[in-house]
Amino acid sequence: MTIEFENPKPVENARFLLQTVADNMMRPVSREMDEKEHEIPYSYIEFMHSAMKAMGSGAGSLVAEDEKKEVDPAKPKRASLGYQILANQLEMLSWGDVGMYLITPGGGLGAAAVQAAGSSEQKTRFLARFSGDKPTFAAMCMTESQAGSDTSAIRTRAVLDEKTKEWVITGEKIFVTAGEKSFNEHPEFGKGFLVVWASIDPAAGRAGMRSFVIEAGTPGVKVTKLESKMGIRVRDTAAISLDAVRVPFENILGSPTVEKTTTGFKGAMATFDATRPLVAATGVGVARAALEEVKKMFSEQGVIIRYGLPRQKLTAVERDVIEMEIMVKSAWLMVLKAVWMADNKQPNALESSMSKVKSGDIVTKVTQKAVEIMGPLGYSREFLLEKWFRDAKITDIYEGTGQINRLVVARHILGYSGSELR
Ligand SMILES: Cc1cc2nc3c(=O)[nH]c(=O)nc-3n(C[C@H](O)[C@H](O)[C@H](O)COP(=O)(O)OP(=O)(O)OC[C@H]3O[C@@H](n4cnc5c(N)ncnc54)[C@H](O)[C@@H]3O)c2cc1C
Repeated sequence: MTIEFENPKPVENARFLLQTVADNMMRPVSREMDEKEHEIPYSYIEFMHSAMKAMGSGAGSLVAEDEKKEVDPAKPKRASLGYQILANQLEMLSWGDVGMYLITPGGGLGAAAVQAAGSSEQKTRFLARFSGDKPTFAAMCMTESQAGSDTSAIRTRAVLDEKTKEWVITGEKIFVTAGEKSFNEHPEFGKGFLVVWASIDPAAGRAGMRSFVIEAGTPGVKVTKLESKMGIRVRDTAAISLDAVRVPFENILGSPTVEKTTTGFKGAMATFDATRPLVAATGVGVARAALEEVKKMFSEQGVIIRYGLPRQKLTAVERDVIEMEIMVKSAWLMVLKAVWMADNKQPNALESSMSKVKSGDIVTKVTQKAVEIMGPLGYSREFLLEKWFRDAKITDIYEGTGQINRLVVARHILGYSGSELR
């Protein structure tokens, strides 16, 4: 394996274009968007939809561009750059404003679930809409009030109606990112969908867990609440109830029968191997924003960090800033390794969780340190440091908390199964 530290051209191009978006479309409205929590920023969403289409990709779609291209077996195989480009796009947009990045139209976790566990027919049926004329959203509904980290506690039930050959789904989901925009029909947006996790056989435990695609507007589904949050406030997070919702038989992702093994469940969990490094990339973007802001504020005050001096000659503040730089750069290297492995079709569950743990840790520490060392400027709402501090923590919560990802890492290193180490 050769290691290159230079970005390939397509990656550099993606970064360059999105830097302009971050500078001009995000930063100027960051504060306003944070304060208007439940308002929908239509102009940003429409702009991003057109921009992403023009660039030939969907930063929010979580479907790596190269994955969509047909492979010519006669040509030598070229490793994909899809996930590497996505990670760079997400890092850059999150540097601009992570809440706004999260509202960038696209398939998000819903599309990633279809991509990971759907058949090729399902991928065609459900994913094409994200490159259509209108901005479109999708969401994943896994969490319930008694089932967050422990997905085996999911109570939502899917029963097959033998007469109509439809699934009938009943349950309550909470904290669904983009749940409102994915389910409720807005004339400005295309028809989205929810991917809902339910059990087809509660006695079978995880082996009975499946996910189902529920189209926007399906009767029986209701968005019951929009959360008021500490950070990423511009992104809607919804509670959703499902009351005997009828779903076509062919909308189940994975096998409709319960096998003795948890292979089906593991297949669906593979969604996270692809998405955890991407969430980690967003954390790195927020951390880098805070670090750069601190350096800018210091330099305006005439404080220049003297890199290269022996540690004992540095001031406490210089040491802090250098520590912050080390944290940001090491987390980024872990993200790059995990997405490179995804692009090269190498199993990356270990590296994926490692990158998420590291990013969740460093983004909370770096943004906290930024608020601390800038004193009143860090705490004031006049600047964005306090906002980034609030935006940071979610990196360590969704897509598996820091503790759960540490368990995944430990299981892989020590060779334990999920039931042996939990
Ligand atoms: C803004 C936001 C957006 C979200 N978006 C989505 C979404 O789109 N879709 C979705 O399905 N969910 C979403 N979630 C839910 C999120 O995935 C869960 O909050 C997360 O999985 C943790 O579950 P929980 O909140 O039930 O906490 P719990 O599982 O109850 O955990 C509470 C604490 O205990 C720790 N803990 C739990 N088990 C262990 C263990 N075995 N060992 C050590 N520590 C443990 C956890 O790390 C945590 O610190 C979102 C949450 C938030 C806040």
